[in-house]
This record gives sequence, structure tokens and C-alpha cells, in this order.
Amino acid sequence: MNIVGVDLGGTKVRAVLADGTGKLLARTDRPTQADRGLDSVIDNIVSVINKVMSKSTPGEVLAIGIGAPGPLNPRTGVVFSPPNLPGWTDVPLRDLIEAKLGLPVYLGNDANLAALGEYTFGAGKEYRYLVYITVSTGIGGGIIEDGNIIHGSRGAAGEIGHMTIKLDGPVCNCGNIGCFEALASGTAIRKRALDLLNTNRPTLLRELSNNNLDSVNAVMVEKAAKLGDEAALELLYDTAIYLGVGITNILHLFNPEIVVIGGGVSQVGDLIFEPLRAEVNRRAMPAFRENVPIVPTDLGDDVGLYGTIALVLQNYEDAQRRKQQLAHLRRDGI
Ligand SMILES: [Zn+2]
Repeated sequence: MNIVGVDLGGTKVRAVLADGTGKLLARTDRPTQADRGLDSVIDNIVSVINKVMSKSTPGEVLAIGIGAPGPLNPRTGVVFSPPNLPGWTDVPLRDLIEAKLGLPVYLGNDANLAALGEYTFGAGKEYRYLVYITVSTGIGGGIIEDGNIIHGSRGAAGEIGHMTIKLDGPVCNCGNIGCFEALASGTAIRKRALDLLNTNRPTLLRELSNNNLDSVNAVMVEKAAKLGDEAALELLYDTAIYLGVGITNILHLFNPEIVVIGGGVSQVGDLIFEPLRAEVNRRAMPAFRENVPIVPTDLGDDVGLYGTIALVLQNYEDAQRRKQQLAHLRRDGI
């Protein structure tokens, strides 16, 4: 038995072929071409699926798991209107792909599925209650409660990037102010770095960016910090404090056994994790923080893809039944 997993991103669509234990057997990717509209994106999704399916014995693929940017409803398979997929409004993605390929499709929010991937195959393997946070250009998350994703009434729960951290904070993409994402994401780091460059304070960022403001990003701030740049170190420290505040809220709300952090910012390492953990220790009640590891993901960029495989495995029996049903429908020409 094989499973196909697809990660639909704003710039790239990736697909993998896995066996029933989650071992990856093949992978491919191509540009999403979101600017060319819905039909092009669907064609690109079908194309990467067919490419990895060609590496499997015919008939061996049970189902396809797809992770897409939220908000979306995993129960109906409908993607609402993600900011990075222009022109997408209430797209029945699950049904569209199912109709093209004749195999059962399971759809999930990419950050929720990353949580499921971490829970099933990664740092969360030993735990039943886990929160996963991705910190990259934005902040997303997923909450696992006794082995299951918390979905909420419309399937959109877990948007932790938009909890308010600061009453008078910076404006967020969502239109609100002071969101976690507006303060602690890679984009927030870049914005603070640009503010810093507008002052007279000495910083290696001037040299590193060669006065090209477009090139300033979180990776460059990390580089400056590791070279001992005081201003960059302070900037990362401030980010870690905001992360610590957000994670304290999460600990109190969901009482997880482990918090796993992924995304580019998590790769900064101790410069972020040490002050973050110290802030959590200062703020969280002992019963919520003691013996709760806060760790970087060990699945790297593949965490979301592992989540799509885990989603199909969670629906294994349903997938077997629906695969047969879809085969009958195809045979009868319906
Ligand atoms: Zn927001």
C-alpha cells in the first residue's frame, strides 16, 4: 500500500510517495503558478501527483493527502480564500482532485497537518497532547488533543498567529493590530531590522545588506547576531520574548505535553530558544510549564508532507472503502 502526499504552497507544490509506514519513496515539485489562476494550479497539483504515482506499482496507491494554506474546511474539502492563492474563493479542492484522479482525497490546513506529522513521525511521537507552531513569513499552528487535530466549528481552529499579544502593536496582514504573527514572525524580524537601519545605531546589517533594503531578512539578522552585532542580538532577543509570551498563552489554553516549533525562525537555534524558554518560565504557571519541552522540529521542511501521509493513515479504513466506491463509479461511467 502506498500513499501520495501533496504540500500546496504559495510558490511551490510538492508531492511525495510513501509506504504504509511513512517511509518516503519518491518526491517531486514544480511551481504553483498561483498568479495564473485556479485551473493552472489544479493542473500543477495533478501533474506532481501523477509523477510520483508513476513510481508506484499500478493500483497500489490508496489515497492522496493534501495540505493547503488555510483557512479551509477539512470536513467539506473546501478552501475558503487564502491570501497567497489569489482568485481562490470557496474552492472544492478535495472534490476537484478526486474527480480528476479517481482516488480518495483528504484535505487539511498545512499548519494543522504539520502538527499531525510531528505527532505521528517526529518529535511528538511519544506524546498525545502537542502544539506545533510554524514561525516563518507568518505564524501558523496546529493543536493535537489526545491524538486528534482540534478543528473547531468551521474547521479553522488553531490560527495562533492571530492571537493578540500587544494592544497597540503593529498592523497584521489580517487587518488587526498586535497579532502574534505581526510581532514574532520572520516578516516581523525584517520589519524591525528595517526600522533599525533607519536609526543611527551601529549595526553589521548595513554592511551585510550592502544598503539593499530588499535583501534584509531574518536570516541576515541571524548572521549579524552570530557575528556579535549588539543591535541584531537585541532584535532576536525581543522576538524570542514575544514568542515566549505567545507560547505561555498556548500552554495555559491547551495544556500540551510538548511544544514543537518549525519554520525558518526555529532554525536560528539557541539565540531564540534560550530567551524564549526563560520567558515562559517567568510567565507560565508551574503546572503548565514543568516537564513540557519546547523544541525545534526534527522533520525540517518535510513536516507538512509527513502530515499529509499521517492524515491518510488516520483515515485508513474510510480510504479503503472510498477507493472501492470511486473505482465502481468509474467502471460504471458515472
Ligand atoms: Zn493577524
